[in-house]
Amino acid sequence: MSKVKAEYIWMDGHEPTQKLRSKTKVIDGSLSSLNDLPIWSFDGSSTNQAAGDNSDCMLQPISYVSDPIRGGDDVLVMCEVMNADGSFHSTNTRAHLREVDKKFKDQESWFGIEQEYTLFQGRVPLGWPEGGYPAPQGPFYCGVGADEVYGRDIVEEHLELCLDAGLEISGINAEVMPGQWEYQVGPLGPLDVADQLWISRWLLYRIAEDYGVSATLHPKPVKGDWNGAGAHTNFSTKSMRNDGGLKVIESACESLGKKHDKHIAVYGAHNEERLTGLHETCSIQDFRYGVSDRGASIRIPMATANDGKGYLEDRRPSANMDPYKVCSILIETTCG
Ligand code: ADP
Ligand code: MN
Ligand code: MN
Ligand code: MN
Repeated sequence: MSKVKAEYIWMDGHEPTQKLRSKTKVIDGSLSSLNDLPIWSFDGSSTNQAAGDNSDCMLQPISYVSDPIRGGDDVLVMCEVMNADGSFHSTNTRAHLREVDKKFKDQESWFGIEQEYTLFQGRVPLGWPEGGYPAPQGPFYCGVGADEVYGRDIVEEHLELCLDAGLEISGINAEVMPGQWEYQVGPLGPLDVADQLWISRWLLYRIAEDYGVSATLHPKPVKGDWNGAGAHTNFSTKSMRNDGGLKVIESACESLGKKHDKHIAVYGAHNEERLTGLHETCSIQDFRYGVSDRGASIRIPMATANDGKGYLEDRRPSANMDPYKVCSILIETTCG
């Protein structure tokens, strides 16, 4: 009988930022739907998700894509973590987004997430001199040439793998700090964008392994006069995309301003190191929105202002944010 290698991927209980874990299940036969992927278990005492004397946690497959690294019929499986009794585990942040999505389905919210990340070789960003610094920032953003960008082979391979897996990637670019890059996922509905973002992160870590390089989502990987790494979250509802949408966007911005602290609390750990008011950010203490303003918390894109409808860009989430939490709170604050 044929065998399928299914890589079960889940979020662990690491604090303050949950990390990805995965392990392989070999399944007899072929897959035709999610139902062919059995519930599985793992040792939660090794992932900060259970005590040693009651260590089994359950993996509930919730979506899968073809595995572009192993190829063939092999798959990557995104899972939710459940308790032994079938209730959802306290680290399962997707469960809440499922409820929010169901409650506000009629709003038809879309998300496009810009994932910034930094490649490291050992203790220094890829391409940086050991124990020193490259030339000051300026020429690197969207740069070309061996003296401007580092790691393009990894970045290109990651893009190819994501597309092979069927992920909705809308673009890539080199970032302001050398060794830093970005890709965008979406626009998609909340569960799809968040599931795909986690799978794309897993693929990034996994392919960088083959190059002896690590990717980090730390929001301020190098202290000082260097750009941090964010996950700008572009968001719209049906009424924002329709005629008259600009008014809806402005009123959403007003609601977001009233809940600034609640949002910052779930926008990623160490974000205060990044949101300083410098390097195209607004200070973490302040909330501001504005058209085309990259120093604001929320930017209303020029095209949206001109068309009178479109979307908003929340620039506050950090690169290490959990998209299940960020999508949940954006919908709850603006649609609730
Ligand atoms: P930036 O100019 O901030 O670098 P990007 O081009 O990197 O912008 O990212 C913009 C993101 O916004 C993309 O992921 C895109 O898919 C997404 N997007 C476009 N239209 C919408 C929309 N109506 N609702 C939500 N997201 C959208
Ligand atoms: Mn971008
Ligand atoms: Mn960017
Ligand atoms: Mn942006």
